[in-house]
Amino acid sequence: MSMFKAVRIDKTESGTQAAIADFDEADLMDGDVTVRVTHSTVNYKDGLAITGKSPVVRRFPMIAGVDFSGVVESSSHSAWKAGDEVILNGWGLGETHLGAWAQKARVKGDWLVALPKGLTRAQAMAIGTAGYTAMLSVMALEQHGLTPAQGPAIVTGAAGGVGSVAVALLAKAGWHVMASTGRPQEADWLKALGAAEIIERNELSAPGRPLGKERWAAGIDSVGSHTLANVLAQTRYGGAIAACGLAQGMDLPATVAPFILRGVALLGVDSVMCPLARRQAAWQRLARDMDLDKLASLTTTIPFSAAMDQARLIVEGKVRGRTVVEIA
Ligand code: NDP
Repeated sequence: MSMFKAVRIDKTESGTQAAIADFDEADLMDGDVTVRVTHSTVNYKDGLAITGKSPVVRRFPMIAGVDFSGVVESSSHSAWKAGDEVILNGWGLGETHLGAWAQKARVKGDWLVALPKGLTRAQAMAIGTAGYTAMLSVMALEQHGLTPAQGPAIVTGAAGGVGSVAVALLAKAGWHVMASTGRPQEADWLKALGAAEIIERNELSAPGRPLGKERWAAGIDSVGSHTLANVLAQTRYGGAIAACGLAQGMDLPATVAPFILRGVALLGVDSVMCPLARRQAAWQRLARDMDLDKLASLTTTIPFSAAMDQARLIVEGKVRGRTVVEIA
């Protein structure tokens, strides 16, 4: 019997309950690669899983955590051997497959991405699923043909995980970044990350008009609901918004006006089931384009024992930037 520590989520009569517990390696699910997890992160989805606020967890008991970096311990998959440094984002980890907040994980080799040269395992998790999603969003805007020459880019939820990395990546790519935040006290920090202008969150979060003044050519929205509707309504002719989150809400109380009168496009971004080649491309771009000093300035590192508290804070919108969880 080989035991390891994990954050285990169990179903209870009143909902769910999460706690650090001993887990037996023999109870791990099927997979062809066993990984010694060294780092994980706290994403918004981890907050939903730990608090039980949304039905993220589809199997019990579950090990929490949707992403990790670590070192391959053993593998029967042709692409991986013991000692390889790897990253995993999504694929149902922490939802349908036992997750990342554990000293060990057994997963499918097809889910893994090699740690790109230039990033440490800790930096990879400072980026984490939120940062990788920000990069997928940047790539979606580029694929749509948008460039900084066409106008500014807006980032909503800018002080959050996806938002802060998106600000840094868009600024690095030459965009004039307009950062929308409900935390004006973070304005200087957002400007240091690359924001050219700060927009008060309230300007966008209440019900708005079908069309407004054309203010930006592109955007990355991790907030949804009225915010996304207003962002679309104020997008310039031919622009596009990459939608990846629902921090305000899952609804989209919009009209078709921006689409049919201004040719605006809404680009959906999913990180969980994203095909491997696109993930690899995103991680290569992150290794190339993510300014590591800026990454350090948006990252907080916490011990394993503090992960659950941080998960509760993130759903309250109280976590700035990104959090690395040291598992090892
Ligand atoms: P964070 O909590 O770090 O960031 C969310 C930010 O949204 C907050 O920091 C806050 O920014 C803003 N916000 C929070 N509540 C509200 C509200 N009621 N109204 C308006 N703005 C609000 O979470 P993450 O960055 O980790 O994730 C952001 C979203 O993206 C989540 O919904 C998450 O599920 C989703 N996501 C989706 C992925 C995908 O594959 N599509 C992958 C990763 C994340 P501020 O304080 O600056 O206003």
